Amino acid sequence: MLVDLKEIACGAALRRQSRAVQIRYRDKVVVVGGDAPVVIQSMTNTDTADAIATAIQIKELARAGSELVRITVNNPEAAQAVPAIREQLDRMGIDVPLVGDFHYNGHTLLKDFPDCAKALSKYRINPGNVGQGAKRDTQFAQMIEMACLYQKPVRIGVNWGSLDQALLARIMDENSQRAVPLSAQTVMYQALITSAIESAQRAEQLGLPGDQIILSCKVSGVQDLISVYREISKHCDYPLHLGLTEAGMGSKGIVASTAALSVLLQEGIGDTIRISLTPEPGGDRCKEVFVAQEILQTMGLRKFMPMVIACPGCGRTTSTVFQELADDIQSFLREQMPVWKTQYPGVEGMNVAVMGCIVNGPGESKHAHIGISLPGTGESPAAPVFIDGVKAMTLRGENIAQDFQKIVLDYVQTRYSPQV
Ligand code: SF4
Repeated sequence: MLVDLKEIACGAALRRQSRAVQIRYRDKVVVVGGDAPVVIQSMTNTDTADAIATAIQIKELARAGSELVRITVNNPEAAQAVPAIREQLDRMGIDVPLVGDFHYNGHTLLKDFPDCAKALSKYRINPGNVGQGAKRDTQFAQMIEMACLYQKPVRIGVNWGSLDQALLARIMDENSQRAVPLSAQTVMYQALITSAIESAQRAEQLGLPGDQIILSCKVSGVQDLISVYREISKHCDYPLHLGLTEAGMGSKGIVASTAALSVLLQEGIGDTIRISLTPEPGGDRCKEVFVAQEILQTMGLRKFMPMVIACPGCGRTTSTVFQELADDIQSFLREQMPVWKTQYPGVEGMNVAVMGCIVNGPGESKHAHIGISLPGTGESPAAPVFIDGVKAMTLRGENIAQDFQKIVLDYVQTRYSPQV
């Protein structure tokens, strides 16, 4: 068959044009939207009133790579603790901007605790949770007033679980008067989008500059999230915060978040992401940051740490040597990165292949910066190592893992050292 050779496009669509919002803490500026890379954020699950525990978790999240960290500010004790958390972070040398998550009483807390309002770098306002009836507009306006007073950007974060019921009733009414009413699902989407955009417009009318507003419309269904964000992206140029709310635990939460966010990011939609994983008991909160990084890196949108390419193993790898080596090298790279990223610029783009046998091992190893092809069952006990596509040496014996780490370290020091 004759093949008509032509270019085949690869990569995500150009990012949707959006305003650039600056989130500041002292000299640190995190830009969401505009031409800035997609920003990773996370949220603590400590009691904010416990300033030390919260500061420690923020430090861990920031060190893991969270570029913004959100904390709930749910009561006076929490609001009082916010400046202490900020001071503690300052003492630890952590300058990640903090986002305050407000529901129900945010208008009161921001007014009564000015040091809290100042210490935060951004406020999250849920228009479905700012008050009922006539109080809703007043309390929303009070929060926007505080954002204007302290020059803080806001995220207007709508959530299906706390959608403004008066607005939903209004849209349902309007829908019932249509000659052909829209589906209940579309009405739900319309309500989410309308709540976000009308609230943003109201904030602008109240004096908040348009380049200090970020929007989100979170739902827990993958297809719902994709539909809502595709639609809202056509109706405004505010930067969009993506996240599947209540994504769940373990692999389900990771897969659902990845499925939803990947489709949108591929279409150029999304300026900041948060992966809402439910931690397993005793689990590491930083996992949500690692998953966010892996989504962005595997999609080719950002680079955070060297990637390990490993085959899944099969009947040709009956010993555990291959899994252990893949795991060892992954842990080694993660441990080294806090130092490497300051000393060896560009190292985050390195690929390391760990392959289980001769079938795909040499081929895949040649495509990586460094690759090792371990002996499969019945193969001679030798592991060829490829560097930049060329077979460089063969490892044998008991210390293959340590020898391979040393080779990786030498490569990083030689290839990525700024002096070279
Ligand atoms: S590279 Fe070898 S061990 Fe790995 S999956 Fe393929 S055949 Fe199996």
